[in-house]
Amino acid sequence: MKLLQGKTALITGASRGIGRAIAEKFADEGADLILTDLFYDEHAKELEKILKDKGVKAKLYASDASDFEQAHQVVKEALAEFGAIHILVNNAGITRDTLLMRMTEEQWDAVIKVNLKSVFNLTKAVQPVMLKQREGSIINMSSVVGVSGNAGQANYSASKAGMIGFTKTVAREVGSRNIRCNAIAPGFILTEMTAKLSEDVRKEWAAKIPLKRGGTPEEVAKAALFLASDLSSYVSGQVLQVCGGMLT
Ligand code: NAD
Repeated sequence: MKLLQGKTALITGASRGIGRAIAEKFADEGADLILTDLFYDEHAKELEKILKDKGVKAKLYASDASDFEQAHQVVKEALAEFGAIHILVNNAGITRDTLLMRMTEEQWDAVIKVNLKSVFNLTKAVQPVMLKQREGSIINMSSVVGVSGNAGQANYSASKAGMIGFTKTVAREVGSRNIRCNAIAPGFILTEMTAKLSEDVRKEWAAKIPLKRGGTPEEVAKAALFLASDLSSYVSGQVLQVCGGMLT
C-alpha cells in the first residue's frame, strides 16, 4: 500500500522547485493533487501530464495564495472537484533580498504578504474541511533563516519566523481534532530561487554546510512525505530542519 493512497493534497506554488518535487513525490505515493501557482503556463501543463501519467488525479489552478478571496475560491472549487483535502502544503514563497538600510516598504510588504499571509489564507480556508473530516496534516515551508536570521533578509527571515509561530499555534488549536501542523525549514536548496544568487555566494553557502553541498528539492520532498503521511502520526508543532546540518 502506498503511503498516501486515498489522500488528497493541496500544494501552493507547485509549478516548479520544491513545490513541484513534493507534488511528484506525493503522486508516487498515490495522492491526488490540487496544485496552485500564479499562472497556468507550460510548466503547469507539463507537470499535470507527468502526475496524471503516474496514475493520480491532478489539477493546477491559477490562484494567488496571498489574496484572501482567491485562496478561499480555489479551495471551494477544488473541493467540488476532489471532494476532500487531507494534506495542505503552504509552499508558495518569494525573496526580495537587501540590507534593511536599503529595504523599501514595497519589498517588506511583498514578502510578508506572499510568504506569511498566504499561510493564513490557505490554512483558514482549508481548516473547516479538515475539522469536518477529523483528519489533516498541514505543512508550512519555512526556512532555516526563520530560525537563525540572515543578513540581507530581514523581510524573508521575519516571514519565515512568523510561519513557525503560526505552525505551533495551529498545532495547539486543532490537535484535538486529529489535525497535525508542522513546518519544514530547508537550508540551501538548489532551485530557481537560489539560482539567482551569484556563484561566489553559492560557494560560500556550500562551504558552511557540514554535508558540503546544497540540497535538492527531492530531499525536501522526502521530509514533506514524512510529515504528510502516517509515518509522522505523533509529530505535531515541530520544525524539521532539512539543511545538511547547517543549523544545529
Ligand atoms: P521557486 O521560486 O523555485 O518556486 C516558488 C513557486 O511559488 C513558483 O512557482 C512561484 O510562481 C510560486 N509563487 C510565488 N508567489 C506565489 C503566490 N502569491 N501564489 C501562488 N504561487 C506563488 O522557490 P523554491 O526554492 O521552490 O521555494 C519554495 C518554498 O521553499 C518557498 O516558500 C521558499 O521560501 C522555501 N525555501 C526555499 C529554500 C531554497 O533554498 N530554495 C530554502 C528555504 C526555504
